[in-house]
Amino acid sequence: MAERGISVDLFEMRPGKQTPAHKTGCLAELVCSNSLKSDSPTTASGILKRELRCLDSLILRIAEETAVPAGSALAVDRQRFADRVTEVISGHHLIRVVREEVRELPRGVPLVVASGPLTSKVFSQSMQGLLGESNLYFYDAIAPLIAASSLDYHKIFLGSRYQKGDPAYLNCPMDKSEYLTFHDGLLSAQTVPMRSFEEKLFFEPCLPVEELARRGPRTLAFGPMKAVGLTDPRTGRRPYAIVQLRQDNTEATVYNMVGFQTRLRRGEQRRVFRLIPGLQQAEFLRYGSVHRNTFVCGPRILQPTMQTREDERVFLAGQITGGEGYVESVSTGLLAGLNLTRVIRGQEPVVPPRTTAVGSLCRYLSQADGDHFQPMNVNFGLLPPLDDPPRKREQRNRAMARRALRDLSDWIDREEMKKGAHHREDGQAISHLTCLGEELL
Ligand SMILES: Cc1cc2nc3c(=O)[nH]c(=O)nc-3n(C[C@H](O)[C@H](O)[C@H](O)COP(=O)(O)OP(=O)(O)OC[C@H]3O[C@@H](n4cnc5c(N)ncnc54)[C@H](O)[C@@H]3O)c2cc1C
Repeated sequence: MAERGISVDLFEMRPGKQTPAHKTGCLAELVCSNSLKSDSPTTASGILKRELRCLDSLILRIAEETAVPAGSALAVDRQRFADRVTEVISGHHLIRVVREEVRELPRGVPLVVASGPLTSKVFSQSMQGLLGESNLYFYDAIAPLIAASSLDYHKIFLGSRYQKGDPAYLNCPMDKSEYLTFHDGLLSAQTVPMRSFEEKLFFEPCLPVEELARRGPRTLAFGPMKAVGLTDPRTGRRPYAIVQLRQDNTEATVYNMVGFQTRLRRGEQRRVFRLIPGLQQAEFLRYGSVHRNTFVCGPRILQPTMQTREDERVFLAGQITGGEGYVESVSTGLLAGLNLTRVIRGQEPVVPPRTTAVGSLCRYLSQADGDHFQPMNVNFGLLPPLDDPPRKREQRNRAMARRALRDLSDWIDREEMKKGAHHREDGQAISHLTCLGEELL
């Protein structure tokens, strides 16, 4: 975003060259859902939106101007939304919109790359040259994440196959009849329809779990669910099959279903995966998916400020950072834009506190395990646990929201956004206290 005195060229290849999903030349065209997800303060996405309001996000303001009724979600009239974003950006006296494909990453100039999940091929190749082939990916294969507090530890046991290394996995054991019921559940579940440009997506090492199930009743039991080298301490026997859960954050509040990348619809993931012993009450923090997607291995490439490690004047933003979703893309975009202007002005780049949704997302993108990195939407598992968490989930979430917004507000005061480091496009300094949702305090 342009600040006072800094002019910006914004390159957009559409409408001259379309991506496989976009249809118009509008900036901020929403290619699928018109929903920016829940606006409730007891959801992680709701907290993120409150923080973005606090930081006076232009995109959030326009989303509110063009909102349509959607219960507790924030949904927009997609055409009015995209038209209005295009109008404000194109009409800004410091922004020049250049309708051209960028074919190579420009060198020696400060810039933000936000070319999205469907980045053009030739530009991806140029990025790959800079970042290294193994650090830029073209699809994601995501397994669900589950809150540790929702697991039934009476049924699950700790152990690694063949006792190799420390017992690192939580194992959900199944007998034959439980396995066959689960297998039938997978076969009968509905999947998300495939888009034409995604048809060649499946690679043998990341096949969705339901595709493996279709290959035969024992394929899973010999694949990601094989129970070899494991003994269930409750029975003293090897289970017929197991589902392994791997710790996903340092605090051990989040677990990943190993090898369970899936294209099942979300409701079907809840229904079928809750058949697994130990997961009957599972709280899904992230659902599985398999998508065409262009994204970097953030932990090897990015700093939490959204600067690249290689060149601190090159920033990434949007889905290419590994942040998943419209609002997540807005937040990395806001932070990258803010920090770019700070760097140009000789100021230190900033990152919101770890306890905020924006801060925790940026830390995940830059500091997660680079060997198992997959895109992430904002969720409570990214936020540090509370010192004294209420037992009820809703109260816990509300307490996390309160902490996030208080810490963000203090941070804005400390970082002196008010002294001109952060201005609206109309030149007004932002007033941070608009952010503190009355209902939370
Ligand atoms: C098919 C699909 C459906 C999705 N559905 C949802 C959903 O329902 N809800 C959700 O929350 N998220 C969804 N996402 C994920 C993601 O949130 C959106 O893709 C989001 O728009 C990402 O924002 P972005 O700014 O990173 O990328 P984009 O919105 O894609 O913007 C990137 C822009 O860069 C342009 N561009 C690319 N390469 C070049 C180049 N070389 N030169 C010049 N311009 C270039 C593109 O034309 C595009 O306009 C979906 C993703 C895909 C691929």
